Amino acid sequence: MQNDIQETLYSEQQIQDKVKEMGQLISRDFEGRNPLVICVLKGAFIFMADLVKQITVPLEIDFMAVSSYGQSTKSSGVVKIIKDLDVPVEGRDIIIVEDIIDSGLTLSYLIDVLERRNALSITVAALFDKPGRRTVDLDADYKGFVIPDAFVVGYGLDYAEKYRNLPYVGILKPEVYSH
Ligand code: 5GP
Ligand code: MG
Ligand code: MG
Repeated sequence: MQNDIQETLYSEQQIQDKVKEMGQLISRDFEGRNPLVICVLKGAFIFMADLVKQITVPLEIDFMAVSSYGQSTKSSGVVKIIKDLDVPVEGRDIIIVEDIIDSGLTLSYLIDVLERRNALSITVAALFDKPGRRTVDLDADYKGFVIPDAFVVGYGLDYAEKYRNLPYVGILKPEVYSH
């Protein structure tokens, strides 16, 4: 698995430091509130787990799974809910936890859904942001690292369902894609 990685972009320590910083900002901003933190599966599962440990206000968590790409590797703009939330969002302060914002289509769809369900507020925390690839006008309230247009894996992010368990984030060797 390690042999498939061409370059490490962010080490385990760099990621932990950043997540801690994000958790401290969220804790400060949500003082006195009781947010519902929504993990967008599967890519955000490790980020979510680490982030909530750094948040000091009382919170609840729930999970949602969406598919944005269908069979293709490019975003189609068609987003489907694969697994919906267990709890109602009406009147709640929502924090959406995403692994990475690319085109922004997945997130804009999610925000739309939660707005229509009458969430009180919607805040986005994304570990990675690729602003160069955006097709909808949208930005995260809390973001970890702004990265160039490269496909990254590790720390929850996959290629063909692999590499999610790497504790760091890297770029795959080109030959991995051509197998
Ligand atoms: P968007 O709808 O913003 O184009 O796509 C967002 C989703 O595509 C992310 O939540 C993530 O699951 C996937 N994605 C986008 N860029 C990357 C990347 O560089 N690596 C991986 N592993 N997934 C990505
Ligand atoms: Mg995602
Ligand atoms: Mg994926």
